[in-house]
Amino acid sequence: MKIYNTKTRQKEEFKPISENEVGIYSCGPTVYSSPHIGNMYAYVCWDVLVRTFKYLGYKVNNVINITDVGHLTSDADSGEDKMEKGSKKEGLTVWEIAKKYENEFLENLKELNIEMPWKMPRATDHIQEQIDLIKKIENNGFTYKTSDGIYFDTSKFADYGKFANLNLEKLKEGARVEINEEKKNPSDFALWKFSPTDEKRQMEWKSPWGMGFPGWHIECTAMSTKYLGETFDIHTGGEDHIPVHHTNEIAQGYGAFGHNTAHYWMHNAFITFKGEKISKSTGGLFTVFDLKEMGYEPLAYRYMILNSHYRNGIEFSIENLKTAEMALNKLRSYKVESSSNINQIFRQEFIELISNDLAMPEVMALVWKVAKSDLKPDEKWATLLDFDRVLGLDLDKEIRKDIPKEVLDLAEERKNARVNKNWTESDRLREEIKKLGFLVEDLGNTCKIRPIT
Ligand SMILES: [Zn+2]
Repeated sequence: MKIYNTKTRQKEEFKPISENEVGIYSCGPTVYSSPHIGNMYAYVCWDVLVRTFKYLGYKVNNVINITDVGHLTSDADSGEDKMEKGSKKEGLTVWEIAKKYENEFLENLKELNIEMPWKMPRATDHIQEQIDLIKKIENNGFTYKTSDGIYFDTSKFADYGKFANLNLEKLKEGARVEINEEKKNPSDFALWKFSPTDEKRQMEWKSPWGMGFPGWHIECTAMSTKYLGETFDIHTGGEDHIPVHHTNEIAQGYGAFGHNTAHYWMHNAFITFKGEKISKSTGGLFTVFDLKEMGYEPLAYRYMILNSHYRNGIEFSIENLKTAEMALNKLRSYKVESSSNINQIFRQEFIELISNDLAMPEVMALVWKVAKSDLKPDEKWATLLDFDRVLGLDLDKEIRKDIPKEVLDLAEERKNARVNKNWTESDRLREEIKKLGFLVEDLGNTCKIRPIT
């Protein structure tokens, strides 16, 4: 198995710490709002990694954490706590917010056929572990105290910034207007933040340094090493984590244990919408449930992701999603009643591709090569089902027929009309959809289609 290691910027042969076993830690969601398809992209990528190791015969111990405290709106340890912000916005307690969006995340995993991780620890259930880790870092001389918290002194770690090729001098120049003047270096970050004196926080804990809450980065070092050991195999995350979050995790590992906690660091690129990373301003912030309400199967989105390499990302569009759903259903149409032997030549080819840093676009080409091959139908189907252990496309599922493509196309046309504020056209299309037996309801940016009963 070869994987691309961000640490060395090259593909490396994977050597597990324990034979036939692999420990994987993936940075999990901050549970303060509904996860959108861009958030879920990473978890599909890492699910393919987990399934690949299982397929190759490894025992996989994978951890995805739940961030339910301490993630501030700015990476520079300032701004509001995302959880408290979500709480104010929705009029729920932070604990209710955390529970609500943790559940939504779990539902998303199910919809996208992502296997439940081995462990899914919450940051708030590991406050003591985080305090213990900060104490260790403190005892090793890497911390200092300011009026608002305990900080990691990055100048004490000579290799800080090496992982992300950060230019620390430039950082210093750029930080002339430093928000926190007590910080010794612009790259220093909070391990523990004190509760504000003028405001009561909903989540706060006693610590040796005073009442407060952990910084965002410390939870990942605390929970990854608790469940996987002080040194483990693979740490994954989005490429946006490289310069701050993972750089700081590496510094914390060094501060506490004297070494990098993970042997391999893997990072996924992003999905884009109209050529840009999806966001409030560019759009494309659909949730998996939005796609479902528009009549698409969530696994069509998974199929779309499988057609890209995790380090390249994908361009999302409804058009691409439609094509993906058609392709997925076409694959399912190869289903036969009985399946026989898996074709070993194709299987070997499959193993070579997944073992090459998850070469999924090539894998999908192979899937179609098998589908269109001269193999006997039952051998073909057995081979496709075997591949599906990694693909996770639920190929065995019956083809869905509930909303016809014609209706979906009209709904898409209507959506464009609405974007252009062409209300007459939008109403005309609604009537046309009605004639086909379906109702359209508008919900904010999306619309719901359901059969007239
Ligand atoms: Zn993390």
